[in-house]
Amino acid sequence: MIGSFTFENLPCRVVFGSGTLASAKAEVERLGGKRALVLTTPQQEAQGKSLGAALGPLYAGIFPGATMHTPVEVTERALAAMKACEADCVVSLGGGSTTGLGKALALRTGVNQLCIPTTYAGSEMTPIVGQTENGLKTTVRDAAVLPETVIYDVDLTLTLPVGLAATSGINAIAHAVEALYARDTNPVTSLMAEEGIRALARALPAISAKSDDREARTEALYGAWLCGVCLGTVGMALHHKLCHTLGGTFDLPHAETHTIVLPHALAYNAPAVPKAVETVARALAVDTAPEGLFDLSRRVGAPRSLSEIGMPESGIDEATDLALANPYWNPRPLEREGIRKLIARAWAGEGPRVEAH
Ligand code: NAD
Repeated sequence: MIGSFTFENLPCRVVFGSGTLASAKAEVERLGGKRALVLTTPQQEAQGKSLGAALGPLYAGIFPGATMHTPVEVTERALAAMKACEADCVVSLGGGSTTGLGKALALRTGVNQLCIPTTYAGSEMTPIVGQTENGLKTTVRDAAVLPETVIYDVDLTLTLPVGLAATSGINAIAHAVEALYARDTNPVTSLMAEEGIRALARALPAISAKSDDREARTEALYGAWLCGVCLGTVGMALHHKLCHTLGGTFDLPHAETHTIVLPHALAYNAPAVPKAVETVARALAVDTAPEGLFDLSRRVGAPRSLSEIGMPESGIDEATDLALANPYWNPRPLEREGIRKLIARAWAGEGPRVEAH
């Protein structure tokens, strides 16, 4: 039965395919941009420079200093670079870190953004930016930070190393899983969530087996787009909040943390959201969703324990305290014993366990 719901379609133009990077110049023109500042990480500077050459007279310069967690000092340096080259729009080419820098600039100046994602993080589809100042991460939701145009070019994702593709892809699946049981879930977002999980769950093992499998890379990027829309349109719960806490407290890598925690977070919530669990299982083509997710991470060779990515065992209690310190909505109330067990299992790399509450 379909109940009442609110659905807000976020305004963003999407260009998807192979070779679509060639339309960057036309897309900047379409946004009315005359001087574009290209943003990249230091690792993707060369890619950014060749994009600059393709932009021709619209290329104002490059800022190749994007880094994890969008530190405010980096944003300030990028703002100075924008001013120095009189840029009137930004083109961010890269993963969630680069997209985050473009958003931080849009938040401060209102500039239009053309975003060209090269991972599956999904940030390009959300009006959310997380920024760090003095080691503290804060999140802002503001319509001004949603990129106006997004170009998805499968060709750019071919260089994404297999390991990063796997964890980045499961990070995307996490958006869709939580969208299915969000407080503001709705039938349209749920359609995208199920299709996004299905596409990524099929594509990621194929990419692991053959890194240059174009069909799989295309399906993964398509799935990542859908999962990104899920993240942008409904609110997230336990899984995302917990990963945010673990990542910030123990300086753990973003996509890997999501990959490890997801089966356990779903197992914790499972008794409260049977319909969502059934949908995830259908999308994964498995009998039980938490085990299916755990098995997917094994098949793609992703890390499966928080201990192996650097979290100390002594952090289990600290993380439990922090997870319960700022209560938020979750389909199953946050119970200390259950949350501690969840974190302990994820730390040790044990399989997920559904326990009735
Ligand atoms: P990332 O952007 O930090 O990229 C990781 C590394 O991979 C970088 O060195 C990058 O240059 C490189 N890389 C990216 N694409 C590549 C490619 N195709 N080929 C080769 N190398 C490539 O990682 P990420 O996982 O995409 O993003 C994580 C960040 O995004 C986190 O800070 C997270 O908080 C943020 N994020 C924000 C939102 C949001 O809605 N605000 C959503 C998801 C993620």
